[in-house]
Amino acid sequence: MRQVRPRTEGWQQKKDAEGRPLLQFASPKRGKPPVHLADLTPEERVAKVKDLGLPGFRAKQLEKHYFQHWTHDPAAMTDLPASGREEFVHGMLPPLLTEVRRLETDRGDTIKFLWKLHDGALVESVLMRYPGRITLCVSSQAGCGMNCPFCATGQAGLTRNMSAAEIIEQIVRANRLIADGGLGGKKRDDHSAERVSNIVFMGMGEPLANYARVMQAVRVMTDKEHGLGMSARGITVSTVGLVPAITKLANEDIPVTFALSLHAPDDTLRDELIPVNSRWKVDEALDAARAYFDKTGRRVSIEYALIKDMNDHAWRADLLADKLNARGRGWVHVNPIPLNPTPGSVWTASEVSVQNEFVRRLNDAGIPTTLRDTRGKEIDGACGQLVATTEDEAAAAATPNED
Ligand code: SF4
Repeated sequence: MRQVRPRTEGWQQKKDAEGRPLLQFASPKRGKPPVHLADLTPEERVAKVKDLGLPGFRAKQLEKHYFQHWTHDPAAMTDLPASGREEFVHGMLPPLLTEVRRLETDRGDTIKFLWKLHDGALVESVLMRYPGRITLCVSSQAGCGMNCPFCATGQAGLTRNMSAAEIIEQIVRANRLIADGGLGGKKRDDHSAERVSNIVFMGMGEPLANYARVMQAVRVMTDKEHGLGMSARGITVSTVGLVPAITKLANEDIPVTFALSLHAPDDTLRDELIPVNSRWKVDEALDAARAYFDKTGRRVSIEYALIKDMNDHAWRADLLADKLNARGRGWVHVNPIPLNPTPGSVWTASEVSVQNEFVRRLNDAGIPTTLRDTRGKEIDGACGQLVATTEDEAAAAATPNED
C-alpha cells in the first residue's frame, strides 16, 4: 500500500528548538484596531455614547443602522442629530476593512473578498449562495500560527488576531452587498431572506486560538436585540483541535455547530499533517468533540480532506469509524472534502473510486458521511487556501484606507 508523507512544497516550515514545526499561539504585538461598536457589550456601548456627549439611547439607534441596515454612512442616519453626526458615527463605527479586490465566479454566486485591515494586514472572506441559504466563510486571524504543511495561510505564520468587530464587519459588508443585489445565482423559487444566514469560521486563522474575540463576535452574531440576530445553529466554529478551548466552547451555552478538522485518524500521520497534534492527540480531540455533543446536544462535524495515498486508505476509514463508534452513536457526522487534482503535488485529489470507498465504509459502519461541496475552490477560496498573493499585496498597497 502506498503511503505518501506530508511535506511542504515551495516553502520551508518554520521549526522550533526541538526541530518540530513551530506553533504560534500568542498574537504578535501590533497596533490594535480602533475600538468599534461591535467590540463592546451593550452596556459599554451606552457608556461610550455618553462619553462622546450624547444620551445613551443613541446607542440603540446606531445598533439598528449597523446591524439591521448594514450601513456606516452618517448621511443615512437621519434620526441622529445633524450637528456632530459625522464625528459621532466615526467614533463609534471607525472604518475597519478596506476592500482591495473582489473575485467572482461566472454565475456571480460565489464572491471572494480581499480586505486590508487598518495596519495593512490582509484577510479574505468568501460569500456563497446555495439553495435556501447564503454562507459566508470568515477569517478570524491575519495569517495563522498552526503551521499546517498543506496550508497557504499558515506559511507566513500569524500576523495578528483580528478584533471581534473586524470579524463582524465582514458579515455586515457582505449583507450590504447582497442587499444591493451584488450576489448572483438566485433561483426564481428561492424565497429565503436576502442576507447571510450561515457563517463558517474556515477562512484565515484558527478561530479557537483567538478565543475571546471570536466569542464576542459570535455573541454579536446571535444577539437578537443588540446584534445581527442570527441563529447559532447556522454558525460553524471549526478547529484543528485546541482541546482546552473546545472544552471552554462547550461551556459557553451558545449552541454553535462545532467542526473538528481531523484529516487523519492515527497520530503517526496526524502529527505530520496537523502540527498541533503534537500537543493534543487524535483521541483527546475526539473526546473533547464528544463532550461538546454531550454538553450542547449539537451533532459534531468531522472534516476530512481526502488526499491521494496520504490519508485516503480504506483502513483509515475503518479506523476512523471505530474511533467514532467507540464514543457512541448519533453524535457525529463526517464530511470528507475532495481536493482539486494537482498533478505532481503530494497534495492532490484521491481517485473517485477511492473517495467513494472511503465514504461507503464509514456509512456502512453507521457513521453518517457526505462528501462536501467545495465550491470556493474555483476561486481559491476553500479552507486552507486563503492567502494573499504578491499581486494582492501590490493591489493593497495601491488602495488607500477607507475613511
Ligand atoms: S489549515 Fe487552518 S489551522 Fe492549519 S495553518 Fe491553515 S488556517 Fe491555520
